[in-house]
Amino acid sequence: MDVRIIVETTSGTGEKRTEELCSLSLTDQCHSELGLNLEQGKAILSQLQGSILRHQIEEISAASRTCPCCGRSRFVHDYRTRVLDTLFGRFRLKVPRRRKCSCRKGQSELLSPFAQVLRDRVTPELRMLQAELGARHSFREAARILETFLPCAKQQNTTVRNRLGKVAKDIANAQPPICDTLSANPPTVFIDGAHIRCRPEYQKRHLDVVVGKIETHDMCRRFGLAPQAAPSPAAQLRRDLDALGWDGQRPVTVISDGEAALPNLIRGATNGKIKHILDWWHISMRVQHVETAIKGLVQRKDFPATTAILMTPVETLRWNLWHGKIQVAGTHLQWMMFDCARLAKYRLAVRDQAQRALARCHDLHSYLASNMGSLVNYGERYRSGLPISTSRAEGCVDDIGNARMGKRRRMRWSPRGAHNVAVTRAAALDGRLTVSNTTIAA
Ligand SMILES: [Zn+2]
Repeated sequence: MDVRIIVETTSGTGEKRTEELCSLSLTDQCHSELGLNLEQGKAILSQLQGSILRHQIEEISAASRTCPCCGRSRFVHDYRTRVLDTLFGRFRLKVPRRRKCSCRKGQSELLSPFAQVLRDRVTPELRMLQAELGARHSFREAARILETFLPCAKQQNTTVRNRLGKVAKDIANAQPPICDTLSANPPTVFIDGAHIRCRPEYQKRHLDVVVGKIETHDMCRRFGLAPQAAPSPAAQLRRDLDALGWDGQRPVTVISDGEAALPNLIRGATNGKIKHILDWWHISMRVQHVETAIKGLVQRKDFPATTAILMTPVETLRWNLWHGKIQVAGTHLQWMMFDCARLAKYRLAVRDQAQRALARCHDLHSYLASNMGSLVNYGERYRSGLPISTSRAEGCVDDIGNARMGKRRRMRWSPRGAHNVAVTRAAALDGRLTVSNTTIAA
């Protein structure tokens, strides 16, 4: 079978043009295969794109001929060659520059009707796709995927990386969509940190990336940033909060583990209007360590005292912390530390286990003491359906941090590169990465 493809274009003025695009013969194809194959499809798309671009350039160029003020003709000054990278191929376009009309005095002499659209040398859609694939896969893999499915020009991993950087910058500069309804309750921020491998020239092994999620009752938004490289982490987080309809007044609930730097980021973004809650899971894990160590100690055959002196406080520890009885839990912990210390000192047989139990109790005690202001009645929050743990932020650690930049992958990162990927990946996972927010407004 022979196929001939003809393109007919009608310009805005009604002028029709027909052009034969290509003809292909499908006779010698194997009988098991019907229709076009990928290579033929790519070739047709590429030729079609070239033809459409040529016609568009001619149409826009013709439209720019007449001066909109006085109606006189503006003459072509010269032709320039410009390269445009599109999804369907890279094209060298000959575009005219026209002389400005004499009725417009005091302006620059030349008029380039294509200056704006050809400024970045790439179509917004291709750049967005490169950024999205670069945020989801390695830059080399992203380049390979693009080349496999599209008739685009040969892709370089560095180009994908640079275009992703540009998109990340555009996301950071974009104004958040105006949220017309202020959220009924102030948003909750789940925030956590991911550690990724750092490039050797930065003189350290790991790099911190802050990731998390902001939730209101009906919306959520992920975020990611590398505090070292972000131009202004506070401004970025503030934009995210504004996009979810935060009124700027009521305190934002922040749930994080005990690391002080994380809530401080949100504190900076909200001028201190936060209510920090220590993540229950991190407390629970430390309580579990205490329980295991104490049980191990009292279950020894040669345990020299009645088991109740340690078992009674340890059995109520979790209950007290869950119900916000911090003082009681603290006192019990101190008793246990006192008893364990005595055992470690005088009873040689159980010394090692007593020391281990003491270390665990001490660990929990200092963790609670340094986060005293962030402990709440977790039971009450839980029964009211309010979040008590950062489990959702930990999902983000995997989604934004580890899946693309985790330690298992061999890539090492610069703070800037990690920041760009974290920002773009958060937007890609939220579905916020659209052509509209990567286009520069004309
Ligand atoms: Zn004029």
